[in-house]
Amino acid sequence: MVEHDIVIVGGGLAGLSAALNAAPGLDIAVISKVHPLRSHSVAAQGGINAALGNHPEGRDDSWERHAFDTIKGSDYLADQTAAELLCQQAIPMLYELEHLGVPFSRFPGGVIAQRPFGGAGFPRTCYAADRTGLVLLHTLYEQTLSKDVHFYEEWLVTNLVVRDGRCYGLVAYDLQSGEIIPIKARAVIFATGGYGRVYQKSTNALINFGSGIGLAYRAGIPLKDMEFVQFHPTSLYGKNILITEGARGEGGYLINNQGKRFMADYAPSAMELAPRDIVARAIQTEIQKGRGFEGEYVYLDLRHLGKEKIMKRLPGIREICLYFGGLDPIEEPIPIQPAQHYSMGGIDVNEKAASPVEGFYAAGECSCVSVHGANRLGGNSLLEAVVFGKIAGLSASEYVQESQGEDRAARLVNEAAAQLKERINQWLSKESRGNVYQLFHRLKKIMMEKVGIFREKGPLAEALEEIGELRHRYHQLALRSDCLQFYQELVTMMEFEYMLDIAEVITKGALAREETRGSHFRLDFPRRDDQNWLKHTIAEFTPKGPRLTYRPVKITRYQPQERKY
Ligand SMILES: Cc1cc2nc3c(=O)[nH]c(=O)nc-3n(C[C@H](O)[C@H](O)[C@H](O)COP(=O)(O)OP(=O)(O)OC[C@H]3O[C@@H](n4cnc5c(N)ncnc54)[C@H](O)[C@@H]3O)c2cc1C
Repeated sequence: MVEHDIVIVGGGLAGLSAALNAAPGLDIAVISKVHPLRSHSVAAQGGINAALGNHPEGRDDSWERHAFDTIKGSDYLADQTAAELLCQQAIPMLYELEHLGVPFSRFPGGVIAQRPFGGAGFPRTCYAADRTGLVLLHTLYEQTLSKDVHFYEEWLVTNLVVRDGRCYGLVAYDLQSGEIIPIKARAVIFATGGYGRVYQKSTNALINFGSGIGLAYRAGIPLKDMEFVQFHPTSLYGKNILITEGARGEGGYLINNQGKRFMADYAPSAMELAPRDIVARAIQTEIQKGRGFEGEYVYLDLRHLGKEKIMKRLPGIREICLYFGGLDPIEEPIPIQPAQHYSMGGIDVNEKAASPVEGFYAAGECSCVSVHGANRLGGNSLLEAVVFGKIAGLSASEYVQESQGEDRAARLVNEAAAQLKERINQWLSKESRGNVYQLFHRLKKIMMEKVGIFREKGPLAEALEEIGELRHRYHQLALRSDCLQFYQELVTMMEFEYMLDIAEVITKGALAREETRGSHFRLDFPRRDDQNWLKHTIAEFTPKGPRLTYRPVKITRYQPQERKY
């Protein structure tokens, strides 16, 4: 058995920010299913928001303006106290990151450079060319290594052990040895990232299965606002690799097959820099109305920016286009289409990153505080990961220092590990009917086609039924090899059940929410309905499927108004 004071699951930005800020003297461990530097945070391109006021057009910026943009961007579903906290903390956090050694791009005077981003009133996105996540993650990893933090790489956490409202630890599968390991912890922090791969087209890393969200849910921790799924407007056609919003921030145009900058018809003043939900729907509408290319994509045109600007500000985007798209954006427009990108919903936590279960915390994309409400603004997610990662590290430390350990912890985690071993033995002793990859493939298609950008009662109800059928087929599966080392089919078998749970919660929440808000667009209810739906969806696990209840949104000083850009 492994034992630590605080176990952090996830080696991305939220996890490392928690590890760095946990109290000195405590015994801290980070578990990750891949090497921490392969976490999806490393792929973030465009930047991180803070109202530093460094841009010549951003001198009047303030954290209050940042909070207003975030809340308006959220279609008024964000908890305003949480959004205010995030935007206030953004400014000191950026300087903290700078002092830790993050090599941000600079303006000529030497201050941190900032660029315009969608839905923002001022240019406030700080960046390191188009590799912001890479430099942030490498810097935090380096800093964490200098502390006394224990890393477990290539360990998949499979179960969370909760009894009577308190968290006792985890069970993990060590890919290298093939062993199932019980882990005792006084506090657990989940920083397990998003579930992008539940959708067929996603900008997310291939590891983003979202199992952390699923296993918290199964352990009795509620999920919040899961029906809000962000589709990024611009992913490279055919590959769905992200083309950062920074490309539009630097001045890129969106063009249809008539050569028109069609955003003029959807967001006449913000144009290409309207929030993502609006731009993604505009692109999808153009394609559906026959104004796309080959019925599948539109163009993102950067040619007018010139070679020098593209090479300096968007070098990674140029490489992606050259290597994966076979084109040079200096000379040709980029074919793009929307793809799943981010999860606004997640594990229900408060502004201290605490869940309703004692000793269990969550931060980053797997969590929902909620700061993004129904639609996240670009550049706010890296920010959330570092700010709330830090808060989670501090809160969990405080809890551990003030609480007593319990004797039954070891017994409970050992029992949970024994149950998992028993389950694996059952999978090994059965004849297999089908394989998990076929079901996985089917699930992604259902989610893309029926629970995508545009939603409607009929298809949503069908999706729910089909997810139920997939679950039935999942229970008939077995494993085909008894060598458990680096056994990817076993990984997928264990994570897939959680993906089914996530898909079910998203779909049920989307079916119930009879309005349009942010990323959730109902063709049959195309208006926002504050009277009935200005509230968070809370989903709790029951053996018969998710039970939905609702909770009011916290409003401070920003009264909901019509969202125009
Ligand atoms: C291509 C791309 C570009 C982006 N660009 C930007 C941007 O410019 N600005 C911005 O603000 N946001 C951006 N985002 C969003 C942002 O990068 C993410 O939301 C954020 O980095 C998530 O950080 P995280 O620490 O929560 O999770 P991640 O970085 O995804 O890390 C999750 C960690 O959890 C581990 N894990 C998961 N499940 C398990 C398990 N069961 N057992 C063990 N370990 C597990 C993984 O190994 C990993 O270490 C982008 C996202 C993408 C996909």
